[in-house]
Amino acid sequence: MPNIDLHSHSTASDGILSPTQLLAHAASRGVQVLALTDHDDVAGLVEADFAAHEENILLIKGVEISVTWHGRTLHIIGLGIDPSHAPLAKGLQKIRDGRTERARLIAAQLDKYGIHGSFEGACAQAGESKLIGRTHFARFLVESGHAKDVRSVFKKFLVKGKPGYTPHIWTTLEEAIGWIRGSGGQAVIAHPARYKLGKNLLEQLFHDFCELGGTGIEVVSSSHTPDQIRQFARLATRFNLLASSGSDYHGPGESYFDLGRLPSLPSECTPIWHDWNIPLDRSNQADNKIIGQ
Ligand code: AMP
Ligand code: MN
Ligand code: MN
Ligand code: MN
Repeated sequence: MPNIDLHSHSTASDGILSPTQLLAHAASRGVQVLALTDHDDVAGLVEADFAAHEENILLIKGVEISVTWHGRTLHIIGLGIDPSHAPLAKGLQKIRDGRTERARLIAAQLDKYGIHGSFEGACAQAGESKLIGRTHFARFLVESGHAKDVRSVFKKFLVKGKPGYTPHIWTTLEEAIGWIRGSGGQAVIAHPARYKLGKNLLEQLFHDFCELGGTGIEVVSSSHTPDQIRQFARLATRFNLLASSGSDYHGPGESYFDLGRLPSLPSECTPIWHDWNIPLDRSNQADNKIIGQ
């Protein structure tokens, strides 16, 4: 089995490494197939494509779309997308605009709490990225001495019930899957254990996702315990969904799993890449369009 990692982030969203640095790191970890799946943006894919050729890695063009479903935030990964597909590009722009509005609300909340300048601080953390996320606020709060690390800053400030939390409505599940499929990609539910859905709601999600044309779920993820890997392997099989595997790598020091260091998918799963034409000789990448619709 090739060394495959289908979930990662760059500076185009809230990752620490540029696409070029990310691909170099992937190569150093023996990754042969990497999906760059930045939150709500595809801006890193041109640079990533170039770097992937340099590093002899097969790049899967991806995105991780923020969705609101039954009042909860879900992340839907698109794999093998065409970033120039107009409905996808427009839809992602709208989500990014919503992120800027949310960032102003988060900053206003933190202002009331006595923490000033966080909008500008988060923008500075975002650098060249065209979107602002909670991670950028988290890094600003750590650097300005309000918490010791990014993980504790979320617990203290950025989750429900805490001073910097702001509810937000993202796009719908239907739109996200529609944009992904319309651009030739496959839709995958990211880290399903993270949503802490009860049995009924989880089955409802899988049902809706299948009805809307979703293809797979992440079975192996840095958010999943070994028990959860087994649980979602069973569910994938039951719902006839393909299984994906991704580290959700955000950069050194901020990720549970390094790139390319993922446990194998349980043998009962059908990997999402089972019918991708992955060339064994990675020196010939002229035709990078491997996912057929
Ligand atoms: P956003 O989409 O802006 O709401 O931010 C979501 C991102 O924040 C996730 O993709 C993670 O990178 C990060 N994140 C969310 N929860 C946590 C947490 N508890 N600890 C560390 N990072 C987190
Ligand atoms: Mn993130
Ligand atoms: Mn996610
Ligand atoms: Mn992610």
